[in-house]
Amino acid sequence: MAAGGAADIDAAVIAADTALHGEWGKATAAERGRVLARMGKLVEAQAEDLALLEARDVGKPLKQARADALALARYLEFYAGAADKLHGETLPYLAGYTVYTLREPHGVTGHIIPWNYPMQIIGRSVVGALAAGNAAVVKPAEEASLTALAFGRIAAEAGLPDGALNIVTGSGEDAGAALAGHPGVHHVSFTGSTAVGALVQAAAGRNAVPVTLELGGKSPQIVFADADLERALPFLVNAGIQNAGQTCSASSRLLVEQRIYDSLLDNLSARYRALKVGAALDDLDVGPLISAAQKSRVEAYIERGRKDGLQVAAQGAIASNAPGGGHFLSPTLFAGAAPDHLLAQDEIFGPVQVVIPFRSEEEAVQIANATQYGLVAGVWTGDGARAMRLTRAVRAGQVFVNNYGAGGGVELPFGGVGRSGHGREKGFEALYGFTRLKTVAAYHG
Ligand code: NAD
Repeated sequence: MAAGGAADIDAAVIAADTALHGEWGKATAAERGRVLARMGKLVEAQAEDLALLEARDVGKPLKQARADALALARYLEFYAGAADKLHGETLPYLAGYTVYTLREPHGVTGHIIPWNYPMQIIGRSVVGALAAGNAAVVKPAEEASLTALAFGRIAAEAGLPDGALNIVTGSGEDAGAALAGHPGVHHVSFTGSTAVGALVQAAAGRNAVPVTLELGGKSPQIVFADADLERALPFLVNAGIQNAGQTCSASSRLLVEQRIYDSLLDNLSARYRALKVGAALDDLDVGPLISAAQKSRVEAYIERGRKDGLQVAAQGAIASNAPGGGHFLSPTLFAGAAPDHLLAQDEIFGPVQVVIPFRSEEEAVQIANATQYGLVAGVWTGDGARAMRLTRAVRAGQVFVNNYGAGGGVELPFGGVGRSGHGREKGFEALYGFTRLKTVAAYHG
């Protein structure tokens, strides 16, 4: 992989700026939509190849990579349709005035992508920016850049004008930092860790440009005794182990009403014991972690849990044919963690969940909100009024009632509060973030 640096980012920003003064900048909203629609069709047609590439690169089971490829196609479809439906408003004002707002693209947008869901995150970040008329410079993660490059080829094939989309591979410290702090970049979207997000925001701040930060999480699912537990069970586990737990919206805390704690823990444990870990193309439940470093980081948390006397309720099994030397790790379900224990507070970013009992609705809310994060939450209950109360009380950017993730719908605005970040991507809402509002007040008497 080419290690792009500051000079390459410079060239990419100049290319993007040139595109904004050329064919891309002059394209109508409908024309922008049409080219995105063509890209969507190409992604759909090449979904299997893209899925294989992503599975090999990230190590995720093929079925999950397939879902990612189709999600990218769906983002292109959604934002293709949205491009010419984004508009300002007319505002009532003093007699003799006509006042209206215009939604204008920022200009050159920078996008720093992590390795866990490259296709999905390109879809929700880059595609929205293009739909709104920006020209994008993308820095994929050094661990997984292949589908970003494939996306670039597809854009060219679909006829996206030169310079509208630029992809620079390279390390975070070089290419990433150069992009975040580039004076020619007018908006920065960052998805990744909270620590790096703060660096990116500081770098962009020096140029006084807006930033969207999609950071980590420690998302809870709250399970009441009156919930449909049959329905809940697969969601409770899948939300913790999908993509080997390397998911920003992973549900790593399961808060369970005391009355059903023992029986639910048994059922969760049985599911964990049935989990199979193996190579991406063997398409089991869980693939390897992204790197040796990530594996030892997660192992250190598991070790810490054991050392502090937490109970390992159950673990999944690594398949006997899993290739030697792979970064495979048994998914681990912990019980007996106090809500303020490290394992119930830190984002582990691996297939590890902790089960925590609660006695009352108030206590459930208090535990759910007692981390520095606030990305996603799930509420499982048969009591509609309680569900409504909890959707308001829980601190999160998305709350799911009697489901978790809603299938990842591209229509649903997504983002965090607190250390989970700020700004919203996905859905129509993202387009507001990728535009700046201009107010025009015309006096005509
Ligand atoms: P990371 O923050 O280390 O890297 C993310 C990206 O930032 C990579 O492209 C990296 O090269 C780049 N980068 C690194 N240092 C940089 C710097 N100094 N300046 C500019 N860019 C730099 O995160 P990661 O380890 O790749 O991903 C894991 C983290 O991402 C987790 O904390 C996870 O929660 C978070 N994440 C959040 C979301 C979300 O939508 N909220 C989605 C995926 C991942």
